[in-house]
Order: sequence, then structure tokens, then C-alpha cells
Amino acid sequence: MKPSMETGLPHSHNRPKLLIVDDQPTNIRVLHELFREDFDVFMATSGEQAITVCHVQQPDLILLDVVMEGMDGYEVCRRLKADTATQGIPIIFITAQQQESEELLGLELGAVDFISKPINPVIVKARVRTHLTLKLQSDLLRSMAMMDGLTGVANRRKFDEDISADWRLCFREQKPLSLILADVDFFKRYNDRYGHQAGDGCLKSVARALSETVGRPYDLVARYGGEEFACVLPKTDLSGAVEIAQRMQERVRALGIEHSASDVDRVVTISLGVATLTPSGDLEYQALIEAADKQLYEAKSAGRGRVCSSAMEPS
Ligand code: GH3
Ligand code: MG
Ligand code: MG
Repeated sequence: MKPSMETGLPHSHNRPKLLIVDDQPTNIRVLHELFREDFDVFMATSGEQAITVCHVQQPDLILLDVVMEGMDGYEVCRRLKADTATQGIPIIFITAQQQESEELLGLELGAVDFISKPINPVIVKARVRTHLTLKLQSDLLRSMAMMDGLTGVANRRKFDEDISADWRLCFREQKPLSLILADVDFFKRYNDRYGHQAGDGCLKSVARALSETVGRPYDLVARYGGEEFACVLPKTDLSGAVEIAQRMQERVRALGIEHSASDVDRVVTISLGVATLTPSGDLEYQALIEAADKQLYEAKSAGRGRVCSSAMEPS
């Protein structure tokens, strides 16, 4: 990637996204000209349009005009900050207003900066660069905080966040939510036989195999505990989830990781419990975890290296 001379930002196919909001097309044109080389620039000429673009495109930064016909910039800011889906997007107000009270209001609403018109291109660019760097750093920290350090899949914190959000989603839409719990068989013996380092390597390989089995963008594979993994499948019924669990079980076996101390096979295997639930008002998502855990226990008792499942559709 060749960094741009002017902004120092890298050129790549994954360029940062900038949203410019102004009800005067001429103002947009000036800013667009300034940033089009380094950003994917999106434009909106009203507050309503800006909010829609934010939801669809998830820009990395917004340059927001304050005085607009209809919904003004402050209201746009208020709404974006009140919505968890958009509150992380930094907002820079650009305005002809010079009063301190206006600037203070903007900052109190959660904007990161306030730039006055007429704009000085060099200053606007410098401030955009600063705030973009902070935004990308905070994205990175956030994603690291949600990742398991050993295996690179989602961690328990991310699992808790996702399953509770997916539970609410499936409740609203009255769709089934499926959960697979997978646990490595005789893993204590594996560590004892091959050493803890090899055990770590085994967990990495298993995690990768599980991740490669799920395909849809909202499916999640997470490390649930030591040698236990969880897979959350929104809007997936039991037969779909069981199919995925079977594929996981076959794929881990196909890794062919030698495990001569296992009673199941000569290679590392996993046991899986699958449960599906369509959320209802009197249930919590913990019910789904309990149900999947019960099935995992069944799979262990029935000889390991297999999938057990239960249907728990509310009557
Ligand atoms: P089962 O088939 O009933 O699941 O037996 P098991 O031996 O897999 O289950 P148990 O819960 O008795 O042991 C789990 C082992 O997993 C014990 C623990 O040391 C090991 N373990 C947990 N986390 C890690 C890790 O991060 N790295 C390594 N190498 N081992 C781990
Ligand atoms: Mg185990
Ligand atoms: Mg275990």
C-alpha cells in the first residue's frame, strides 16, 4: 500500500469511509474534492438521508453541517448517539456559527470536533486525519477485546454480547435461535500425553476448523471455556444447526490430529450438543445455553465423538 503524500493515509481497496452531510451541494462538492482521493466519500443533503447512510454504510467519520432545512445537524447527532448501531461513529460539525455556546452544545452532544466555515482545507484535512486515526485505533482495541488470544476466534465476552443481541432479534422476528456447544474429548489426557504446548496448538486447529464450517455473516464461533467452543446461529432451525454440528464433528476428525490416549478414536474428536429455541417473553437466553449443555452431556455419556440435539419449540 502506497501512502498518500497529502494525508499519510494508505491507499487500499478498504479505504476509510467518510460521510459528508450538507444541504448545500456546493459545500459538499468542495469537501468531496478534498477527500475523494483518500476516502470512500458518501454524501447526504438532509438529516434523514444522513442517518440512513450511517446505518447502511457505517462510515468511519462524519462531517456534519449544523444548519440544514428540516432536521438540523444537532438533531442528527443526537439520534446517531442514541443508537448503539451508530453511536461509535465520530462526528465533526462544520458550521458558519461562531458562538462558543453553539460549539459547546455540539461537543456536549458527543461530537469530537467543531470546524468553522469558511473552511481552511489544510486544517480540515489535519483534523479529519487525527480523528480518523483515533477511530481506527479504537476499532482495533475493541475487536481485540472481543477476541480470544490463543485461538483468534471470538471470546466469551463477545459470545455473551452476541447471544443476547441475537436472542432479542429472534424474539422480535419470532425466528428460531440455535446454539451448538462443542467440547474436545479427553483433552486432559491429550495434554498429559503430548504436552500443554501441543494442547494449545490443537485448540487453535479445532477453532479454525469450527470457524470454517459456518458460513453466514451473523453466525458466531466463540471460545466458551478452556477446551469448549460455542456456535450461535441466528434464524437457524434445529435441522440446520444439527447439519452444521455434524459437519464440525467430521471436520475436526478430518484434521487427523493424533490422540493415542483417547477412547473414541486415534485422532482428536469433539462432542457436540445442539439446541434450538424460538425466544418467548417468559424465557431468557440462558435457557438455550442450559439446553445445549444438557445435549453436550448426553453426547459425552453416549460415548463422545458425536452430536446430540433437542427440539425445544415453545408449545
Ligand atoms: P471430556 O472428554 O469429558 O471432555 O474430558 P476432558 O479431559 O476433555 O475434560 P476435562 O474438563 O476433564 O479437562 C479439560 C482439560 O482442558 C483440562 C485443561 O487443562 C485443558 N485446557 C483447558 N484450557 C486449555 C488451554 O488453553 N490449553 C491447553 N493446552 N489445555 C487446556
Ligand atoms: Mg473435554
Ligand atoms: Mg470441558
